[in-house]
Amino acid sequence: MEELAINGGKPVRETKIYYGHQYIDQADVEAVSRVLVSEALTCGPKITELEEKLCSITGAKYAVAVSNGTAALHIACLAAGIGEGDEVITTPITFAASANCACYCGGKPVFADIDPKTYNIDPVEVEKKVTEHTKAVVAVDFTGQAVQLDELFSVCHKNGLLLIEDAAHSIGTKYKGRPIGSIADMTTFSFHPVKTVTGGEGGAVLTNSRELYEKLLLYRTHGITKNVSMMQNEIDGPWYYEMLDLGFNYRITDIQAALIISQLDKLSAFGRRRKEIVEKYNEAFREIPELFVQEEIPESDTIRHLYILRIRPEKLSVDRAGFFRAMEAENVCCNVHYIPVYFMPYYEKLGYQRGICPEAEKLYQEEMSLPLYYSLTDEDVDSVIHAVKKVVSAYRK
Ligand SMILES: *Cc1c(COP(=O)(O)O)cnc(C)c1O
Repeated sequence: MEELAINGGKPVRETKIYYGHQYIDQADVEAVSRVLVSEALTCGPKITELEEKLCSITGAKYAVAVSNGTAALHIACLAAGIGEGDEVITTPITFAASANCACYCGGKPVFADIDPKTYNIDPVEVEKKVTEHTKAVVAVDFTGQAVQLDELFSVCHKNGLLLIEDAAHSIGTKYKGRPIGSIADMTTFSFHPVKTVTGGEGGAVLTNSRELYEKLLLYRTHGITKNVSMMQNEIDGPWYYEMLDLGFNYRITDIQAALIISQLDKLSAFGRRRKEIVEKYNEAFREIPELFVQEEIPESDTIRHLYILRIRPEKLSVDRAGFFRAMEAENVCCNVHYIPVYFMPYYEKLGYQRGICPEAEKLYQEEMSLPLYYSLTDEDVDSVIHAVKKVVSAYRK
């Protein structure tokens, strides 16, 4: 058996590899450069172009581009009318922003447990958490796999809730053949550099509702409108605008918009490569009894943002932390997505206790994210598989 690098053996690869990385090509550089020497760095034509492109890719009627995915979630909750005392159901296996967005509006996140096979929020658990105070569900397409939209819609419609889909991981994914972005009441994207498509920072909210769209536009820019038909007081002159509600400056720049547009031209190529890598990992790990491979619902045609390696600690003489460190010594640097949101001290102080979502907590104890990004070479992928097999063999019970 090969000596583990953590015990002094030779690592499977010489250079370190990380779980995610952006891919920027010459077309991206030129797209950004053209904006830099143009008239408008912000509030210009690239933002409209990005919004139109997001609509054409997803089939959504309206898109509002914003400064980041968190801002997108915030204005989505505002547009949904979340306020003091309202409850918003979400998953604990997500980035904190999916829950924080309810808090920003004075609302309360309520955590529903995940399906132990797909790791996405379980619609049955969502239904159990509905109360008279529930206003919305923020469902996260964790790793890029679509949530069970039909089942979630049925819970939402029965109880008069809005469905907000946090699609930070799932741009390009389809549910029953329909692109993510065109289905939920509102869908949010993030264009952070670890996500499939990047703008450095950036985000967007997509919707088919004119009413929600108009609210989203207001909240993006201070609650200010220049639309004469929306004005409430007398129009003083051509300079006149009105602030109708308390909004924010959540605008994106034309520089970022240009980068995202250029990246979206590569979305199919990004998706194809990510699928290939996921297939290689799945094939290699399916036959290893010490591992569990994430299951997919047949409705989701997934472009994966994250690849979760889940160990079965009962079959190994090492826990997740030990496995993670052994991988790191092999120069394969993983990450963990996610620490359950309610484990965070901020949420503990609000009174959230451990134990409320046992499947999510179990997943957290057993998972790590392997390298997955467009520019991984086949040799990189082979080295990751080699490292996983090496560590499993060394700790097999
Ligand atoms: C990245 C991410 C966000 C936040 O997006 P930002 O653009 O970083 O603000 C929200 N939800 C999920 C699930 C994410 O992965």
